Amino acid sequence: MRALEDVETVGVVGAGTMGAGIAQVTSMAGYDVVMRDIERDYVEAGFDSIEDSLDRFVDKGTLDDDERQAVLDGITGTTDLADLADCDFVVEAAVENMDVKQDIFADLDEEVPDDVVLATNTSTLSITTIASATDRPEQVVGLHFMNPVPVMTGVEVVVGEKTDGGVVDFAHEFAEDLDKETWESDDKPGFVTNRILMPWLNEGIRAFDEGVASKEDIDKGMKLGTNVPMGPLELADHIGLDICLDASETLHEELGDRYKPAYLLKRKVDAGDLGKKTGEGFYSYE
Ligand code: NAD
Repeated sequence: MRALEDVETVGVVGAGTMGAGIAQVTSMAGYDVVMRDIERDYVEAGFDSIEDSLDRFVDKGTLDDDERQAVLDGITGTTDLADLADCDFVVEAAVENMDVKQDIFADLDEEVPDDVVLATNTSTLSITTIASATDRPEQVVGLHFMNPVPVMTGVEVVVGEKTDGGVVDFAHEFAEDLDKETWESDDKPGFVTNRILMPWLNEGIRAFDEGVASKEDIDKGMKLGTNVPMGPLELADHIGLDICLDASETLHEELGDRYKPAYLLKRKVDAGDLGKKTGEGFYSYE
């Protein structure tokens, strides 16, 4: 297995909300990054969101213009998975779909040298099942970043059935090198965070749908009443309602009825109102 001190170039698969954020913080930590998505437009959109995020750091005075440019220069965009062939470590952050992830891991297994660790940012899917698409399941680990990646300080390390102890240590060390704090979860549906978060979000959506209170009062009540920074409806919009639905459906399938997705969540996703990223969710965004 390639050790962290031998890691210079990190591959990131997916340039969406999470992939772009992971590419950004990895470049900020001094690694070269190759960020891959399936279409040029998605890669460009990833760079746009990285630029927006870096601009906020510059406005706050925590990054100067040269540092901002160095972070951007450290990231190469591509649509060709073969461009990840020289990576020393790869983090996958593509859509939350088992077939897509297994295809990506099977391809990575072909393209990337045998001693390279492959991590997935999945929110709910089994690391063990994803790893089974490769001939190196002991070198596959969950590295579950939180959204927005450049701001959130925590990363959940998820240990698959076959994940080697050295690979688990590597995952903690890599996240710590990005200035994140880690905790560990077994490969059980939803891990620690989403097992507890998803029913909370769905209950907030149901409370709104059943007329318990306005969306503003549900969010305000949970923020002031339980000391969380965002209420369930604004947090669901922020995560992406499609991502919340995918996660809830996986948990429902694996853990039963107490994880059933809220009806209104499904209806919003069917209508294409996915939250902040489409400008319309439970709230409207500019
Ligand atoms: P997203 O929809 O914003 O981005 C996913 C990207 O993956 C898209 O740009 C899509 O084009 C790309 N993609 C699809 N197939 C691909 C392939 N074969 N190769 C490369 N790219 C491909 O989704 P996201 O919110 O960034 O979520 C990505 C992953 O991170 C999911 O597994 C999700 O569960 C997980 N996650 C999401 C959040 C969140 O709050 N959004 C938090 C933690 C983890």
